[in-house]
Amino acid sequence: MTRDQSRTTPATITDKFGRPMRDLRISVTDRCNFRCTYCMPAEIFGERYEFLPRPEILSFEEIERLARIFVGLGVNKLRITGGEPLVRAQLPALIERLSAIEGVEDIALTTNGFLLAKMAADLKASGLRRVTVSLDTLDEEIAKEMSGRPYGPEPTLEGIEAAVAAGFSPIKIDTVVQRGVNDHTLVETARYFKERGHIVRFIEYMDVGNRNGWKLDQVVTAKEIIEKISAEFPLEPVEPNYYGEVATRYRYADGSGEIGVIASVSMPFCGDCTRARLTTDGRFVTCLFASGGKDLKALLRGGASDEEIIAAVTGIWAARDDRYSELRESNTDWPENGDGPAGRKIEMYQIGG
Ligand code: SAM
Ligand code: SF4
Ligand code: SF4
Repeated sequence: MTRDQSRTTPATITDKFGRPMRDLRISVTDRCNFRCTYCMPAEIFGERYEFLPRPEILSFEEIERLARIFVGLGVNKLRITGGEPLVRAQLPALIERLSAIEGVEDIALTTNGFLLAKMAADLKASGLRRVTVSLDTLDEEIAKEMSGRPYGPEPTLEGIEAAVAAGFSPIKIDTVVQRGVNDHTLVETARYFKERGHIVRFIEYMDVGNRNGWKLDQVVTAKEIIEKISAEFPLEPVEPNYYGEVATRYRYADGSGEIGVIASVSMPFCGDCTRARLTTDGRFVTCLFASGGKDLKALLRGGASDEEIIAAVTGIWAARDDRYSELRESNTDWPENGDGPAGRKIEMYQIGG
């Protein structure tokens, strides 16, 4: 456990370490129009890869019912993710349902931005509050290499502009940093978004899933990232906005905005991890590095009452003792990108980061 927990507000349910359940990340599809090398490498997720068949995917009604139950147990923030959430048909209709749930204070979306230009206005109208767009570099060739598709950064940048025009502000940009791949382009990324008032969050490359061939030496630590950027644009640390914030914040000393670093590998933040996750096929997962998850779809479709589902979720959260990233830090002999403490890890595209 790392951070001060006194800032937490009373929660309906807490886990073994006293952590409340505040955020629910909902993966609405396991499909994606990109093949990022660190998430869904094209050589594994090729033409023949079998994604979930439609009947296995939660319907909007099922997602809404579960979201209501989670909100009743203390969740006040929802994040829509995937796979690529914008490839799920009629997504704004789902957001409209979710944003109408009493107790939802914030509803955000994480997207690669490729389809954002044509959807931004509808998403805003549906009640979506915030958008995070993933973009790893502005360099044309490196962007193609990292996204595993023949697209440079342009469609994503157009999506960001459309989101601004639709009224989303500020926009967060998530940039995964890999040593020897895009680490020499970070300052340019920072400069571009600094000039436009968006908040870049640089993310340490993580050992999620089992298929990206993660190696510790590919991780550029938050400390290095801050040093690189600060050498060009001096930075000062900023206090967290709220309990459980994953990014460590810094502001530009010239007052032109801020950036964040998500130091999941070098400075794990399990101590105040309030995030629950729902997979596309309805499994409740309590850690990014968990293995299976509780099959809530089976309960839903088996005719369980809300009370029965509440009992299942409460029991699992109460028994939660996940702190994978902290354990990884102290178990340097774990096989790189191997199984986690609970066995084979779930893949990132199934739970959406
Ligand atoms: N497709 C959407 C997108 O890319 O924004 C949403 C899902 S994606 C799995 C969510 C986030 O996880 C993205 O910002 C992505 O860059 C990040 N991510 C995926 N694999 C990662 C890894 N191995 N290490 C760190 N971040 C990763
Ligand atoms: Fe798709 Fe997002 Fe994974 Fe990239 S990080 S492959 S965009 S789900
Ligand atoms: Fe939360 Fe698990 Fe990540 Fe730790 S490793 S911050 S418990 S999701």
